[in-house]
Amino acid sequence: MSECIFCKIAKGEISAEFVYKDETVFVIRDVNPQAPTHLLVIPTQHIASAADAGDPEIWTSIMGRAVEVARDLGLDKEGFRMVVNTGVQSGQTVPHIHLHLLSGRNFGWPPG
Ligand code: 5GP
Ligand code: ZN
Repeated sequence: MSECIFCKIAKGEISAEFVYKDETVFVIRDVNPQAPTHLLVIPTQHIASAADAGDPEIWTSIMGRAVEVARDLGLDKEGFRMVVNTGVQSGQTVPHIHLHLLSGRNFGWPPG
């Protein structure tokens, strides 16, 4: 998927502010933050959306890493929100699985 933005970031072809990276998952700051802290937790493997993920183990690395990073940054003190937009109606704009980790303000419920 050479045209995929997140695959290009994973390969270093597009720059991003990395917070964490290993072989299976990386965490970057969102270029258009919707909260004081807005991170994207992204598997290195290109999978278009949550609906396309065959192996449920992928969520161990994505959600496990999200919570680790949240704790490392102290976001667990006040709380944080994790969001996985999936498909057109959800508002997913980048067709490569990613989890939004948002923190630093109050969030409304239900979400918009
Ligand atoms: P989605 O709308 O698919 O759930 O989320 C995609 C997110 O990726 C958006 O919040 C958007 O701001 C972010 N994004 C899109 N392109 C880039 C980029 O080139 N770099 C970074 N860091 N974030 C991006
Ligand atoms: Zn991709």
